[in-house]
Amino acid sequence: MRTGVHVRRGDTVEVITGKYRGKRGKVLRVLPKGGRIIVEGVMVAKRHMKPNEKMPSGGIVEKEMAFVAGKAMLVCTRCGRAVRFGHRVLDDGARVRVCRHCGEIIDKA
Ligand SMILES: [Zn+2]
Repeated sequence: MRTGVHVRRGDTVEVITGKYRGKRGKVLRVLPKGGRIIVEGVMVAKRHMKPNEKMPSGGIVEKEMAFVAGKAMLVCTRCGRAVRFGHRVLDDGARVRVCRHCGEIIDKA
């Protein structure tokens, strides 16, 4: 069985299901063990903080929570769509990710 996460830190992804469907953001963290990712602005949970040294008056902190990577698709930089991508090996041996929709090389894999 293939495990792991299909996107990487810094990728722009689009959420394809759930409450945040259609929302795009940058991958902040990848948690390969759980097959989860944390995406900027997605799955934001509000936490009420008690007053502490950093925030003497307490307050509400917004923090992105991890979610299953399969709920997000990579956004192609050329065609601007949430796409499936394949891999290709270039003449110099580099593995790159290729958009299945427009054929654009997304970046080195
Ligand atoms: Zn594309």
